[in-house]
Amino acid sequence: RRTYSLDVSPELVRNQAYIDGRWTSAAADFPVLDPASGALIARVADCGPAEAKQAVDAAYKAFHTWKQQTAKERSDLLRRWYELMVKHKDELARIVTFECGKPLPEALGEVGYSAGFLEWYSEEARRCYGDVVPSPFRDRKILLLKQPVGVASIITPWNFPSAMITRKVGAALAAGCTVVVKPAEDTPLSALALAQLADQAGIPAGVFNVVPCSREKTPAVGEVLCTDPLVAKVSFTGSTATGKILLRHAADTVKKVSMELGGNAPFIVFNSADVDKAVAGAMGSKFRNTGQTCVCSNRFLVQSGVHDAFVEKLAVAMDAQLRMGHGAEPGVTQGPLINARAAEKVVHQVEDAVSRGARVLRGGKRGEGSYMEPTLLTGVTTEMLCTKEETFGPLLPVIRSGPITALQESP
Ligand code: NAP
Repeated sequence: RRTYSLDVSPELVRNQAYIDGRWTSAAADFPVLDPASGALIARVADCGPAEAKQAVDAAYKAFHTWKQQTAKERSDLLRRWYELMVKHKDELARIVTFECGKPLPEALGEVGYSAGFLEWYSEEARRCYGDVVPSPFRDRKILLLKQPVGVASIITPWNFPSAMITRKVGAALAAGCTVVVKPAEDTPLSALALAQLADQAGIPAGVFNVVPCSREKTPAVGEVLCTDPLVAKVSFTGSTATGKILLRHAADTVKKVSMELGGNAPFIVFNSADVDKAVAGAMGSKFRNTGQTCVCSNRFLVQSGVHDAFVEKLAVAMDAQLRMGHGAEPGVTQGPLINARAAEKVVHQVEDAVSRGARVLRGGKRGEGSYMEPTLLTGVTTEMLCTKEETFGPLLPVIRSGPITALQESP
């Protein structure tokens, strides 16, 4: 395979934590690897509970002044941050591709989507209206004011390393809250590039903090972020298992929480369907980000009247449209999975399905490193793992279904 280098201006590739407006080292660091090649991209500060606490304290201190800023001042700063993202969109997209593996056109799409949250919330920041509610008493008025809750801890996954951050942070900052972000171990560089641009945009010290850490330190850092009494809100996107841990942490101090967790989305094709449209929908829904999005369909229930045509056309579309390779290579649509564990999980589901009678029509094998071939399985039943647990990879299992009454959810 050809090798590719990140080739982004050094000021956007930061390797320290960003706490209280300062780039901060930690006692140790951890490697960030290109999942396509295994090459080292950077070594990043491995924050622990002490740095997490430092960031929470900084955010709490900054909250008292940030919430006093006028809506227009907050709006203007978010707008400036958005404009800097747009100015650097190509470099930000390269960072996304190199740390999470998605093809460059998808990464550019993510950066546009990510910047869009800052744009949207810079506009919404100015519309923090209240309400006047008719009072049942002649001598009283009921006024509804919206106020920021305080420090928000933001814990994000690697599959949208930029957009999952701005989606949460844009809203929080617009409302007058301050934040501490813990990005995923695999993808801290997009978060740190956002910090660099926040700094350039003039977001005041302590308002936006980033504490990267390795998987070993994550539970301890997460505990600080979800239990510290100075934190008012936890916003998390990731797996259901982690979400449950964080909910338990947040319970003792009764924090406000927002959880976006995993899924097992079905894709249903009825006998009456336009098969070409169904195939186009299945391709888009299954293979974006090599099957690693929370809205990827996980199991495909296809009624027997259109089953064979659907499978045949799908196999043709997979052959014609999917190309595996480094995300920076033109024409590639399927990057690697985020790491070797992710590829092993897909292989395990394929082996389980085959051992229970499924047929491999396309793919089925791991490539080098964390690559996984786009895989099409038929003869799938609801006993198989791939219909019960989220795959998060390029595996498309087709269940042949009978009449509508037989199309039941698996338990
Ligand atoms: P994950 O393991 O839950 O990781 C998500 C984040 O949580 C990472 O930053 C991770 O850090 C952190 N984390 C893990 N254990 C933690 C702990 N004990 N305390 C604090 N933080 C902890 O999820 P994933 O497998 O990377 O991401 C894929 C999942 O996210 C899928 O289930 C997908 O459906 C879901 N997702 C949902 C949406 C949605 O909108 N609903 C969007 C995207 C993804 P480390 O990286 O250091 O482990």
